[in-house]
Amino acid sequence: MHMDKHQDVIAACRFCFMCRHLDPVGNVTFQESDTPRGRALILDTIRMKNESLRNRDFIATIYRSALSGANRYHCVSHYDEVGLVLAARKDIVEAGLAPENVKALTETLSRATFTVKGKGTTLYYGDHLELYPGCKIVSGGDPGKALEVLGFGDDSQKVFDRFRSAVVASKCTTLIVAEPSAYDFLKDKFDGIEVVHCSEHLLSGKWKAKPARKAFYLESDFLKNYDGNPAAPRELLARYGYTLTLFGTNNEESYSVGEGAVVFDELNPGLCEKLCRRVYDLAGNLKTALFITPSRYVKATLTKYNPQIRVMTLEEAVAQRKEQ
Ligand code: SF4
Repeated sequence: MHMDKHQDVIAACRFCFMCRHLDPVGNVTFQESDTPRGRALILDTIRMKNESLRNRDFIATIYRSALSGANRYHCVSHYDEVGLVLAARKDIVEAGLAPENVKALTETLSRATFTVKGKGTTLYYGDHLELYPGCKIVSGGDPGKALEVLGFGDDSQKVFDRFRSAVVASKCTTLIVAEPSAYDFLKDKFDGIEVVHCSEHLLSGKWKAKPARKAFYLESDFLKNYDGNPAAPRELLARYGYTLTLFGTNNEESYSVGEGAVVFDELNPGLCEKLCRRVYDLAGNLKTALFITPSRYVKATLTKYNPQIRVMTLEEAVAQRKEQ
């Protein structure tokens, strides 16, 4: 089983409760099963008694994880509790036990196709081509990250093969990626093509000083907890005059409403709404607070459950001030 490769995590997490306060789902369900310790105890049970994999409550718990990476990032030994959940999902899929809503979502995601338009040696994958003059654009659905996170490795590979064919045929030398989940997935997958996050590329451009404007910056699960917490997004926003203030009760918790699970809202809408309500409650006055997130998933999800929230993506925050 894939989870056998993570015995060290099971052994460490099953009797440890140190990071319980950092699990976004545990913080709204108040259930021990929705923490790294709870999941490790479940997977330890499966390890000892294989037929426990058929337990529908266990399976639902594994697909309820928000995979924020905050627990792993702040664990003193960085135990890979995310890797353990992803391995368990692969085992569930390979045993033919994926829940029906997961299978239905997988069929949709597997149909993604990709097209390239424009001219240039730099290719952009995102929604704001106007910020990247002289670049061409690749568009389509998710490049395979969502399928990978759901435990469907073979289907993920097929979608990625189509994405890679489109990128290679474009003859680009640089690929700029906007969505953090896609950046995390693509960053090490190409030989001879440099993959950069949009903040890194935009930071190299010219800018004019702008008057100060306060905003809450919602850290990306992927950029912060998976990809080394680069300074580029915060530096870029500072250059455009944004004064970023700490959101929430601490700087360790994830407020990215399921970003790490990529399709969390599609799978668990009731739970996702609770994650959003926690953000609204902590924000106080939603009419005056301004939020910036690197992720269009986070923006769309926060807006879905309360359209009053004022939230922009990082690229929108830059575009807005370029025009001023
Ligand atoms: S990730 Fe680290 S802190 Fe959290 S339960 Fe596991 S060992 Fe403990």
